[in-house]
Amino acid sequence: MTEKLIEIKNLKKHFPVKKRWFQKKADTVKAVNGITVDIFKGETLGLVGESGCGKSTLGRSLIRLIEPDEGQVFFNGKDILKFSGSELRQTRRRMQIIFQDPYASLNPRMTIGSIISEPLKIHKLVRSRQERMDRVEGLLKEVGLRSDVLGRYPHEFSGGQRQRIGIARAISLNPDFIVCDEPVSALDVSIQAQVINLLSDLQKKFKLTYLFISHDLKVVEYISDRVAVMYLGEIVELAYSKDIYRDPKHPYTQALLSAVPQIDPKTKRTRIVLKGDVPSQVHLPPGCPFHPRCHYKIVDRCRIEKPPLREIAPDHWVSCHLAE
Ligand code: SF4
Repeated sequence: MTEKLIEIKNLKKHFPVKKRWFQKKADTVKAVNGITVDIFKGETLGLVGESGCGKSTLGRSLIRLIEPDEGQVFFNGKDILKFSGSELRQTRRRMQIIFQDPYASLNPRMTIGSIISEPLKIHKLVRSRQERMDRVEGLLKEVGLRSDVLGRYPHEFSGGQRQRIGIARAISLNPDFIVCDEPVSALDVSIQAQVINLLSDLQKKFKLTYLFISHDLKVVEYISDRVAVMYLGEIVELAYSKDIYRDPKHPYTQALLSAVPQIDPKTKRTRIVLKGDVPSQVHLPPGCPFHPRCHYKIVDRCRIEKPPLREIAPDHWVSCHLAE
């Protein structure tokens, strides 16, 4: 895994928040605040962090479901933020998303056949009705559903089945890259494993690359090759999954992992309880954004100077002055 499919450079997405009557200028929520990361062909990059840290905004910005404010996103070497018209449409076809809530993302008034075939029609990938139906039936088979569901509606299916329909729609256009945005969070644990295994099988079969967003560190450990940990709109640690789970270097990652139940008693971790709440993404703390909650014996530098994301071991990146 050395060939880059996606290169994200200094990506930013800030949202204005409503002005109070005495304010001259609206504040901004810095949801994605200067992210730089590569995603390699065929890999699953896990993206973890607490709710509201900017994970979904990053996933949606990089496929231009929402427009970023600043930065570059190279897809196969081309900056897609400069694309418009047919160039953008063609690229969008190759970058898809699977949403957390499969019910909300499926039009309740459309049959399953229409939901899955609509992208094929829009992108003119099939020439006849018969070809379209054959393709839809093939896609349903790929995700483990029978073809007799074609005329039924989303409300007639369970959560797991609906997510399978969402996956069929996402792979219908033969994408290279899929943002999986909390794809199993709304499902029962037993169903989660089935959907994760389905995503893994499809990845191997169609050589897909995933950005897998989740707050569930166990799920991310299972499916990811590498893991990026996000805090207040920035990546604070990035490494191969086995390295980050065996020996997390950033105090925030350590705290997140300490809360994950361990089956193997040899890997038992002492629970680290983070101080206070996540600071506001409107008024970020000076220096290291994590310093108000850090359990390390922080130094003056932590309060003044923002730590850069630096490579402390091969392919292991951490933004902490004290990590080594
Ligand atoms: Fe903690 Fe300082 Fe490292 Fe920030 S730079 S994570 S405050 S030790």
